Amino acid sequence: MTEVLMTCTRCDGEIAVRMDQAILRMDIEPRADAELLYCCPSCGAPSVRRVVGELLTLLLFVGVEPLRLSEPTLPRADQPPAVSPLTRDDLLTWHEVLHDIENVTPWQP
Ligand SMILES: [Zn+2]
Repeated sequence: MTEVLMTCTRCDGEIAVRMDQAILRMDIEPRADAELLYCCPSCGAPSVRRVVGELLTLLLFVGVEPLRLSEPTLPRADQPPAVSPLTRDDLLTWHEVLHDIENVTPWQP
């Protein structure tokens, strides 16, 4: 079983975090860093440790399967339209168009 030796940020104890009881979180975009989410086996406190460089390479090399997450995205209906934003001139033009409207039929379901 793969273990990572580190110092707990809460209880300052020397701990061995078992990788089958931790989560190695990485971005879906290839990057050279990750986060290790674990609970301290001594005090039980949850913690997050940044993992970079040689340790990250070793964890991936020995077969630790990372949880790859992407940036959250909005549903298509909530995304802004692919048009340029309104300008002051657009608002003036809209105001002039509205000026020529004499009456409006009420909306009926
Ligand atoms: Zn601890």
